[in-house]
Amino acid sequence: MSAPEEFDVIVVGGGPAGSTAATLIADQGHRVVLLEKERFPRYQIGESLLPATVHGVCRLLGADEEMRAAGFTTKRGGSFRWGTAPDPWNFLFALSPALSGPTSYAYQVDRMTFDDILLRNAARHGVDVREESSVLEAVTGGGRVTGVVYSDPSGARRELAAAHVVDASGSTGRLHAAAGGTRHYSDFFQNLAVFGYFAGGGRMPEPDAGNILCAAFDEGWLWYIPLRDDLTSVGAVLNRDQAPRIQADREGTLRASIQRCEIVRDLLGDTERITQGTYGSVRVRRDYSYANTRFWAPGITLIGDAACFIDPVFSTGVHLATYSGLLAARSLNSVLAGDLSEERAFDEFEGRYRREYAVFYEFLAAFYDMRQREETYFWKARKVTNMQTDDMQAFATLVAGASSAETALVGADSLAHRFSSSSAELTGAVERTGAARTDSGERMTELFRAPVVADVMSEMNRIQQRGVTGPATAETPLLDGGLVPSADGRRWAEPDAAPA
Ligand code: FAD
Repeated sequence: MSAPEEFDVIVVGGGPAGSTAATLIADQGHRVVLLEKERFPRYQIGESLLPATVHGVCRLLGADEEMRAAGFTTKRGGSFRWGTAPDPWNFLFALSPALSGPTSYAYQVDRMTFDDILLRNAARHGVDVREESSVLEAVTGGGRVTGVVYSDPSGARRELAAAHVVDASGSTGRLHAAAGGTRHYSDFFQNLAVFGYFAGGGRMPEPDAGNILCAAFDEGWLWYIPLRDDLTSVGAVLNRDQAPRIQADREGTLRASIQRCEIVRDLLGDTERITQGTYGSVRVRRDYSYANTRFWAPGITLIGDAACFIDPVFSTGVHLATYSGLLAARSLNSVLAGDLSEERAFDEFEGRYRREYAVFYEFLAAFYDMRQREETYFWKARKVTNMQTDDMQAFATLVAGASSAETALVGADSLAHRFSSSSAELTGAVERTGAARTDSGERMTELFRAPVVADVMSEMNRIQQRGVTGPATAETPLLDGGLVPSADGRRWAEPDAAPA
C-alpha cells in the first residue's frame, strides 16, 4: 500500500450520526473524509423522529429546508394504547411548556430519503464522502488510533491517516472494539422486533393522523408509523425468546401480533402488505439494547448506535445519534482548534452523552413499567421491580463511565428505588391525563410536569432552542465542573469564557 492519505478526521458510517458529526467538523474548515459501506440511498429502520433532531440539529446542519421540501409526514406527537387507559392517549409536543409554538412537531421519515439528504448535505459542506467504502480495521500507533484501512469500490485495500477517527458505523460495525471497552447488553430490554410495510391503512383522527401509534398487547407491543398515504411501517416488539418462532415464520409472527392488537388490526383492515422492492420483506432486528463501556479513547470516538441504543418505544435512536454527532463535533472542533485538551473535550462529550442515555433509559424503563398490572410473561419480565441486580449494577457502571461527573444519576444503591419512583410518577401523570385523545391541554401538561419526563425533555429542549433562536442565551454547565457550548454551538467553552 502507498503512503496513507491524511485527513484531520475520518468518519466511519454515513447514517444520521456520521453525517451530523462530519458536517459540523467540515464547517470549521477541517479536512473530513466519510467512509460509507453502502451506496445511498439505502434502507434503515428508525423512522419516527423527535423535534430536537428536526429543529435543532438539522437547522445547525443547514438541512432543514430540504427536510421540509421532502414532504415527510408531520408528527405532532405519539399516541399510546398503553398503561391502564382503555383508549389511546397522546404525548403531544405542543403541550410541552418548552416546545410549544411553531416548531412543536417532528417528522415520520423514510430513512432512505432522510439519510440521503443528510449525507448529500455533508458533501455540500465539504466532506469527502466515499460510498461503497467499507472500513476493515483501525490503524494504531503510540497508544492511539491513527487511521483506518478500508476497501474501496474496486475492492482495493487503502489506508487513511487522521488525528481522529469517529466510529458512526451503527450496530453492526466492529470498529468500536478499537476504543477498548466492551458492549454491555441490557437485561431489562431483552426484546426483538419483526416488522414490515403496508400499502396504506387507516389513520388516527385529525389532528393525530401523523402521530406514531404504540399499542401494547399481551405478548408485547406494536408500532404503527404513517410514512405516506400509501406506506405504513408496522412492527411488533416481542420477547427475545420468540426468535425461533420468528425464524420459522416471520410474516406469520407479524400477522399474528397484529391480530392480537385490536387497534392496529382495525386500522390496517384488509390493507395489503407490500411484497416487492425495498419495503417488500419482513425484517427482524435483535440484540439492539446495549451500551459500550467506553465512548472514546485516544484517537477514536463512538457515536450513535456504534456507542449505544436503548429501545424503539419512544423514537430516541436518531435523537441520540444526531445529539452524539453534535457533541463529538464540538469536542473535535475544540481540540483541532487548540482550545482544549483531548481529555477535557472528550470527558464533556462522554459525560453528556451518558447522561442523555441514562435519562432516556430510566424514562423508557418507566414507560414499560406502566403495564405493571399486566400479568403476562412479556410485561411481568419488564416490571422495574423485577430488574435484576446485575443489570442495575452494570447500568450504574455504564452511566458512571470512565469519566462522567454525573454522580447524581449513579448512586448505585438507590437506583432500584429511583427507577420505581420514576415509573410511579409517569403512571400517575398518565392516569391523571385520562384517556383523552383530544387536546385537553391542562390535563396533558401533567405529563410534562412529571420529573422523569422533564429530565428527558431538558437537553432536547436546549438543542431545539439553539436551532430555533440561535446563540442568544449562554448556558450553564450540564455537568459539575463541565463546559458549555460556544456561542455558535459548534465548540466547547469554559463557562466563564463564554460570552453572556
Ligand atoms: P446507522 O443509521 O445504522 O448508520 C450506520 C452506517 O454505517 C450505515 O449506513 C452502514 O452502512 C455504515 N457502516 C457500517 N459498517 C461500516 C463499515 N465497516 N465501513 C463503513 N460504513 C459502515 N430510532 C428512531 O429515532 N425512531 C424510531 O422510530 C426507531 N425505531 C427503531 C426500531 C427498531 C426495531 C430498531 C432496532 C431501532 C429503531 N430506531 C429508531 C433506532 C435507529 O434505527 C438508530 O438509532 C439510528 O439509525 C442510528 O443511527 P446511526 O447513524 O448511529 O447508525
